[in-house]
Amino acid sequence: MKQTLARALVEIDLGALQRNGAAVARRAGVPLLPMIKADAYGLGAKGALRALDVLEPWGYGVATVIEGEELRHLGVSRPIVIFTPLLEAELLRARTARLTPALGFPREIEAWLRSGGGAWHLSIDTGMSRAGIPWREIDQIAQLTALAPPEGAFTHFHSAELNDGTLGRQEALFRDAISRLPSRPRLLHADNSAAIARKGRSAWDLVRPGIFLYGVGSGSTADLQPEPVVHLRAPIVEIRNLEAGDTVSYDATLRVERAARIATLAIGYADGYPRSLSQVGSVLVGGTIAPIAGTVTMDMTMIDVTTVKCEVGDPVTLIGRSGDTVLTVERVADDASMSPYELLTGLRSRVEKTYTGP
Ligand SMILES: *Cc1c(COP(=O)(O)O)cnc(C)c1O
Repeated sequence: MKQTLARALVEIDLGALQRNGAAVARRAGVPLLPMIKADAYGLGAKGALRALDVLEPWGYGVATVIEGEELRHLGVSRPIVIFTPLLEAELLRARTARLTPALGFPREIEAWLRSGGGAWHLSIDTGMSRAGIPWREIDQIAQLTALAPPEGAFTHFHSAELNDGTLGRQEALFRDAISRLPSRPRLLHADNSAAIARKGRSAWDLVRPGIFLYGVGSGSTADLQPEPVVHLRAPIVEIRNLEAGDTVSYDATLRVERAARIATLAIGYADGYPRSLSQVGSVLVGGTIAPIAGTVTMDMTMIDVTTVKCEVGDPVTLIGRSGDTVLTVERVADDASMSPYELLTGLRSRVEKTYTGP
């Protein structure tokens, strides 16, 4: 099965995305609030909606008003929660698109009420120090929540993928803060992907999975493993033979010690393939691993195929499955010294997206 690619291409397996969503929902035992911020972690919100909406999620989570408006344009009628604090100037637009803001400080809640109000979720900071009312200051807003009760309340874990006890401590702080409100908001939520994988059945009313849906697990010891969703491929566009002493790419960081065969791929860091993979990353040619040779350049990347059978036009897999072998997002991100989140959201629009599945 040989496909011809013009340039780098990312295949997004919506069937796998859907099965990952179903697996998370089964494990958590409560409705989903899937995070499809940043255009579904760079994979395309439209495709993600197609895969996830049949799972009947409670709603969707985004980061900005524009992302929320885009979901409305795509026909989403479910609740859409914006998880990044909004400035007052954005509230009217949020309200017009029937978006649900996450609010924490009294000033934010008052501004929302002034702009006409509507459903909102109370954001409680239990250790991220990023957004939301610090749990110790919850009494400051108790009165306001009596006046305009939030539909939901949530917190966010900073280290759910570690088994270091902080998750339990953050949950206890969250519980304590909730108990100091005049009434319990109807929808409490806290679990991200790693928390769901770690804990199993959720103690809360909704769960907020993100990265797991897109095929990234939280380590080989986690009980729940996702199916790969992302397959990044690029064609070999040239092959050359080098002699001992020849150099490869900028700064000649690679000087071959013996005769070698080097293939050039039509993908580079302007496509979002990380430059930090220079000399340390690897790719799959057929089912065979081939190392990256020299520095990754803006538009092209060289690989060493001295011992690998291949020819110009062959598709090479940079992330995902080739034959029976999978180069996981986690593995590539680790080689690149970056987080899997950063790798996925870094894939650029020059990489054509194709979708398979439901
Ligand atoms: C992004 C995000 C999530 C999802 O986290 P994952 O680690 O991708 O599962 C959950 N909650 C909030 C508030 C987020 O910003």
